[in-house]
Formats: sequence, C-alpha cells, structure tokens
Amino acid sequence: MDPTEFRRLVRHGLGRAALHLQQHDPEPFLETIVESCKSNDCYDRQVNGNRTQYHWDLIEAASAHQLVFDALANEFGSTLEVPYWTVKIMERFAQVKFPGALPFLESALRRDPTSWSVISALIGVDGLGSLPRISSNLSSVEADHDNVCDAARHALYLAGEELGNQALLADVLSELPDDQQDAIEKLRTIVARYRRNRNVRNGHRDDSRRRRKDPSNIPFRDVWTSVEDQIKSSSIRSGVISTDSGYTSYREWGKHADDLQIEHAAYELSAHAPTDVARIARYAQVFAKRPYPLDPQILIDAIDTNIELGDQDYWISPEGWAVHCCLRALSNMSDSRISDMSTRLRNRSDHWRGYWTILFPPNDSGSYAELFEESMRSETDEEVIHSWGSDLCDRAGRFSTPAFARPLALLYDSNPCGVCRHDTVKLLHRIGALTDRMARECHYDSNESTREFVASIAGTPS
Ligand SMILES: [Zn+2]
Repeated sequence: MDPTEFRRLVRHGLGRAALHLQQHDPEPFLETIVESCKSNDCYDRQVNGNRTQYHWDLIEAASAHQLVFDALANEFGSTLEVPYWTVKIMERFAQVKFPGALPFLESALRRDPTSWSVISALIGVDGLGSLPRISSNLSSVEADHDNVCDAARHALYLAGEELGNQALLADVLSELPDDQQDAIEKLRTIVARYRRNRNVRNGHRDDSRRRRKDPSNIPFRDVWTSVEDQIKSSSIRSGVISTDSGYTSYREWGKHADDLQIEHAAYELSAHAPTDVARIARYAQVFAKRPYPLDPQILIDAIDTNIELGDQDYWISPEGWAVHCCLRALSNMSDSRISDMSTRLRNRSDHWRGYWTILFPPNDSGSYAELFEESMRSETDEEVIHSWGSDLCDRAGRFSTPAFARPLALLYDSNPCGVCRHDTVKLLHRIGALTDRMARECHYDSNESTREFVASIAGTPS
C-alpha cells in the first residue's frame, strides 16, 4: 500500500489501516500516524470527531508508542496550546501509565489552566484526585474571568459525572477526602465570584429576564409560532411572503401547512419564477418535505434559468441556493421531466452532478443501482460521494435487494464519513453482502457504533 492510500484510509477512518499495519512494516506510515494525532484531518469533525480509540489502535498495530509519544511531546511539550487530538491521545498514554504522559498533561495545565481538554484529560486519568491540581491552577489565574469561570464550571460538571451527577450534593461531598472537598469549594468560589463580577459589570442583579429576550434563547417553538402566524395571518392570504426568515422556518411551515396553504404557496412561487431567486429559494423550501402541487415545469424552468449563474458554493450565491432549493422540491415529485433532469445532471461536469440521485424515479431500484455504480467509479469529489451516499442508503433501505451490493461496497470504500459508513455497513449486512474482510476492518473502524455493530453480529451469518 502506498502512503497516499494509507493517508486516505486514516482520513476516512477505515479499519483497513490498522489491519494493514498489523501485517506489514509500519515504517512508511509512521508519519501519517503521528499527523493523525495532531490534526485529526477527518471529514466533518462535528460528527466524526471522536477518534481516540482509532488513533490508539493505529499506534498499537504499528507498535509505535514511543515514537508517537516522543514526536508529540517534543512538539507540544512547551507550547501554550496543545491540539485537542494530542491531548486526547496523551490522556490514553497516561491511562496506561506510559512514562512521561501524566507529567506532559500536568505541564500543559500549568501553561494554560483554563484548557477544557486538558482538564477533561486529567479527570479522565485521575478522576477526582486531579481536582486539587486543577482548582489551584485555576485560582492562580488573575485576569480573564470568563475563561476561568467556564473552565471551573467544566471541571465541576466533570466531577459531577464522575460521581454519577451527585458530586455537588452535600452528603456525597462530605465523604470525599479533604483536599478534594477544598478543590470543589474553590471551583465553586470561582464561579460565584465571576457571577458577582458580571452582574456588577452589567449593572443588574438578575439576568434571567435578559437571557429570555436574547433571540438565540427563544425556544424553537416560539420562533416557529411567530413565523407561522405571520405567514398565516398576512402573508399567504394577502399573497405575499416577504419575510427573510431562514431555511428551517419555511421548511417547517411547509411540513405543517394544510393543503390550501400549500397551494397558495405554490402559486406564489410560480408568480416569482424563474428570475426572482431570493423568493424562489424561500418558497421552494416550503416544498422540501411536501410535493409541489402545480406543474413541476415551473421548478424545472427556474433551475434551467439559474443553474449556469450559480457559484460553486451554492449556499453563497443566491442563484445557486435557489437551484438547490428547487432541486430539493422536485425530489418529492415523480414525472418523466424530472427523470430527464436527473439524466442531465448526471452528465454535468460541475458539482450539480451530485444531485442526480435525488431526482431519480423513487420506485426504481435496479437501474438506479447500476447507474450509481457507474457514477461512483469515476467520482473523486468527497462532497458528492457523501451526498450520494445518504440517497443510496435511503433507497437500499427501502428495497434491500442484492442489486445494491456492489454500489454499497463501493460506498463503503470511498465514503469519507464514518457516521454514514455505519448505515452502509448495516445495509450490507442486511442484504447478505458484508464480506468477512469488511467485517474484520469494521472492528477497527473510527466509528464506535460500527465497531459495536460488527461485534454484535460476530458469529451470526449475514
Ligand atoms: Zn455523513
């Protein structure tokens, strides 16, 4: 395996990387292992972010503990900030009592007593025993109350977790050793001091009223009601939807609207198509989950008029965003013109080719699987593969036929997202196409649920 392919496997989080290391000379891949413990170059960190076990398995498979530890300690042993993934793997090193790992974390805490990741790591290694160190470091920080208070809260929260959320109850507290009780008291003092200071700064004693007025704190239901009322009472009946409300509001409204309201909205859209892109985008979102009740040609024309104008980043360009919203609306309908649009998109060379799957006739499985396989073989754009993936899984889930075995196997190999790969693995198993090789790899997958799944089916025929 060449190192570029190995890097891709690690980025995607495939267990093949660890298996390969177990059976081959790890030398050409060591740099990638070290890098992965620093930058965590994975697809969509928000959902694929938890990778400590994956990194640890790579280190074990390569027997590269000392090498990785030294590389990380040399680079981050005296920096103010330590990357999150480095802290996480150092926590693991410290848990297995690797020489130097705990001092590394303690030193990182001294340099930045407010680092959440280091606080979490120390509590992860030493439990409540780390609290005295954490609280005394935090107490020594004079300025920057916001950070200090947040860090103190974080430590208190984790302490609560350690004790089954009862750490802050007086009776549990009194059973702790004295130094830990003191530490919790200190942390509470920091939080209380911050509250007092902030109230003085803001010139009021109770901030709950203010918090409620902050728009970001209004419960979703309230936002929804106000948009609904607005659209119901004035907009639809007077024939104008003119608010600049966001995506969710219009889509949600569409989900809940009655048939007459939907029809009104459809007429409104047709009145502004094909060139008023801002309005088209808003109205089209109403049909994200509901079929557009008028002739789909209105949406098709809006797409054809604007598709060449939109930017690559459709969410930035108004034309591109309108096209995206119209395509999503079309995906709820069935018509030969929509199938034609699907074919036209599939033959495009720009990113719009990624949308052909959602416009494919919903009740077709065989030729969809074939076309998918064909498209997939030449596709290299990760975003396109990712968006196709959810559509393929949706369809494979509905039909569950062997026709999906090959496209799903291709998706398993090339989907950059571990969360979506989990669905793929389950579907492959369901149609009897999860090979032994895949199952072995899944034991080392970056996604925890995938590991659990293959462990749960081990020994049972797929
Ligand atoms: Zn995904």
